[in-house]
Amino acid sequence: MALSEFELIQRYFDYQPAAGSRDDVVLGIGDDAAILAVPDDRDLVVCMDTLVTGVHFPESVTADAIGHKALAVNLSDLAAMGAEPAWFTLSLTLPDADSQWLELFAQGLFALADRYHVQLVGGDVTRGPLNITVQAHGLVPKGRALKRSGAAVGDRIYVTGTLGDAGLALQQGSTASAGLRQRLDYPEPRIDAGLALRGLVSACIDISDGLLADLGHLLAADGLGAILQVDDLPRSQDFLATMETLGDSGNLSYNVPLSAGDDYELCFTVPPGQGAELESALAALPGSCTAIGVIEQGGGLRCQRQDGSIWQPAANGYQHFRAKI
Ligand code: ADP
Ligand code: MG
Repeated sequence: MALSEFELIQRYFDYQPAAGSRDDVVLGIGDDAAILAVPDDRDLVVCMDTLVTGVHFPESVTADAIGHKALAVNLSDLAAMGAEPAWFTLSLTLPDADSQWLELFAQGLFALADRYHVQLVGGDVTRGPLNITVQAHGLVPKGRALKRSGAAVGDRIYVTGTLGDAGLALQQGSTASAGLRQRLDYPEPRIDAGLALRGLVSACIDISDGLLADLGHLLAADGLGAILQVDDLPRSQDFLATMETLGDSGNLSYNVPLSAGDDYELCFTVPPGQGAELESALAALPGSCTAIGVIEQGGGLRCQRQDGSIWQPAANGYQHFRAKI
């Protein structure tokens, strides 16, 4: 490496946040470890996700997008817990110290970090095949974090935003529309929605591996089932326009939002009968929220069409399915 490890950290990662250093960072980058002040009335929420080249992003993706996504996927986990992002650490394994790559990577990373005033407080740099690990730390009022467990029979199932855009972009490769590509390369963590959902929802998860897989985790946490209305799955204009050019008969356009990964939307359950207060709180959420189904007794997940018929997803391997009612 032309740059020493120390120079590399100083040049690209010892970054002064646009809004200034956070008050709760007692000691940031530069010592053996960071010191962070957790308020007495808060729980600390911690998560970690790794991006590996060729697995989580294609070799051709710009470093700016990789920087954004490495942090975004972690912020999405904090959002799903209803936590407010505070700090993160970064472990970077690089094949070489390519200054153009590092410049772009840092741009993407810190542009997102500044938007949520989440501060990089430490990390590690090693040499090897490109691998990026971020650990994010968030704060939530004591005992008020959202969890995967807690849903109950009769709760309504909601998702934020639209589903399947990133998955369709991945399938389309270089022919994907700019809008779909944006969803894949620059996922938007639903932090504001996660914060607004505190106290309203019975359970919450973020959708990283596809709705069926992740809703399956939420159901498994309490041994529950669900019925989904596939015609209600929120799909973007970009998604529908692309499906139309593909001459979609209608079937694939359910399969992608049901099972493709990389959505980074939230899926959550809301107890019935909480009245108008709950409905208006949901309506006031940043971005859209769509009711897509209801929690049922027993294991498994069923998909239903508008006409009441049961619809069987094409994808194999979803052990959460029941074959029939
Ligand atoms: P040590 O050898 O004591 O583990 P390092 O040389 O690994 O220290 O790191 C020196 C300082 O730089 C530490 O405060 C560490 O947290 C920080 N640091 C190292 N790599 C990164 C990185 N990729 N991003 C941010 N801070 C980093
Ligand atoms: Mg170290």
